[in-house]
Amino acid sequence: MLNYFLYVRKSTDVEDKQVRSIDDQLAVLRKLAKDENLNIITEFVEKRSAKKPGRPVFANMLSRIEQGEAQGIICWKLDRLARNPIDGGQISWFLQKNIIHHIRTFERSYLPQDNVLIMSVEFGMANQYILDLRTNTKRGLMEKIRRGEYCSLAPLGYINDTRTKLVVVDKKRSKVVREAFELYAQNNSRLEDVGIFFAKNGIITRGKKPFTRDKIAWILSNPFYYGLFKYAGEFYEGKHQPIITKKLFDKVQKVLQERSKPQKPHQDPLGYCGLLRCGNCGMMITGGYYKKVQKNGNVNEWYYYHCTKKSKTIKCPEPTMRQEELDRQLSGVIQKFKMPDFWAEQLQKMAEQEEQNVRASSNILIQEARTEMQGISVKLDRLLTVYLEQDIDRDTYQQQKAELLLCKKALEEKIDDLEQGICPWRKPLEEWLKQAQGAGETALSPSLSDKKSLLQKICGVNLSLQNRKVHFTPQKQWAALCAALEKKSETDLCCVLVEMPGVKPGSRAS
Ligand SMILES: [Zn+2]
Repeated sequence: MLNYFLYVRKSTDVEDKQVRSIDDQLAVLRKLAKDENLNIITEFVEKRSAKKPGRPVFANMLSRIEQGEAQGIICWKLDRLARNPIDGGQISWFLQKNIIHHIRTFERSYLPQDNVLIMSVEFGMANQYILDLRTNTKRGLMEKIRRGEYCSLAPLGYINDTRTKLVVVDKKRSKVVREAFELYAQNNSRLEDVGIFFAKNGIITRGKKPFTRDKIAWILSNPFYYGLFKYAGEFYEGKHQPIITKKLFDKVQKVLQERSKPQKPHQDPLGYCGLLRCGNCGMMITGGYYKKVQKNGNVNEWYYYHCTKKSKTIKCPEPTMRQEELDRQLSGVIQKFKMPDFWAEQLQKMAEQEEQNVRASSNILIQEARTEMQGISVKLDRLLTVYLEQDIDRDTYQQQKAELLLCKKALEEKIDDLEQGICPWRKPLEEWLKQAQGAGETALSPSLSDKKSLLQKICGVNLSLQNRKVHFTPQKQWAALCAALEKKSETDLCCVLVEMPGVKPGSRAS
């Protein structure tokens, strides 16, 4: 009499979805064995997929069969034993070699002499089933992704709606995520601080600890939050509702980038280091500190600036210069850009008027932006077509697609702004007016860093030092302001306005 092993298997994977439960299989097969008088000596239960070789229970059973403990297997269907060619082949081989004498499934018997071919076909089908399933699943997944449906676990701030299979906003947590972005954008917080902020709002790891720096950085750089998502290295436009704007996202990326630069050891740099170039050789002007204690106990100390003299082609003659003198000259430069209060008021008024005009014509602009957006959609379609026809390679496709999607996103936000009546130039203009009005005060202030920062705004990199004299070229609106101030007798504001980016002086101040 033969000994039998009873083998039942069902995995939680999709390919076993339709298969009877383990308890069911056991019950039916036990009864079958009893009816047919098959002697079961051990039952094996496995809850793993048979897609790949390497099931421990199955391996254990085969090795015990090899040792001669049993000569027969009872199982629900052959696909319970194997869904991959390696395991299938092994079973077939054992049967051919008479190591297995009999396999009894619910439907039929397999014996060494007659069923090897049929069995191979059946194993082949089990394997094919997996291959088809994989292709179909992949195809289905790609279709979903093209429709903009995110198919993975929803990021923090979203939830997977199990009913609609879509990703939807988690009202409470999305608010916290948005606030975290806003917090970090201010550039006053470390990643750890954002982690603590999350923890305060009850968002922590499974181990009940605040998120790590890496996790925070990952969250803060996930484009999902403004509407895109990445799949297999490619950007897709998500159907989900964004919880932040691209503008805020970009701001955060800038802070992330700045802060990720390795911090140099803090050296207490001198106020005007890195501001000026040498007019002789073009190298940077840097600073130094000199201190000497004289024999009589007097201390001589001063700060000075000098050319780094790194040029290999020019032997630079620029002499060193005391900080007091440089500061005096630079403060003088700033003084040249002090805007009279009256002018600032007039400009404010004009800006308000202009904004109203813009608002009135915003409908046209919105229409324009919409048309432009449609154009991008057409381009995206065309791009996909040429890619599918293999006229361009994958890298080119992905890069161009990403660019188009970013354009589209920017346009969407522009439309949003227009619809809310926001003029993009209004804020920069107001900042400029504030800086220009405050220039006199800044010039008198003892803070070198305030002066340096204002000078960088006025001149950018166009500041140089030659023979201990500061030379400068103001840029854009500052140049216009400077010119207007020189012709102060004329109170016409027009020349100040000409260079303001975005401002079209339609009407003059009366
Ligand atoms: Zn030099």
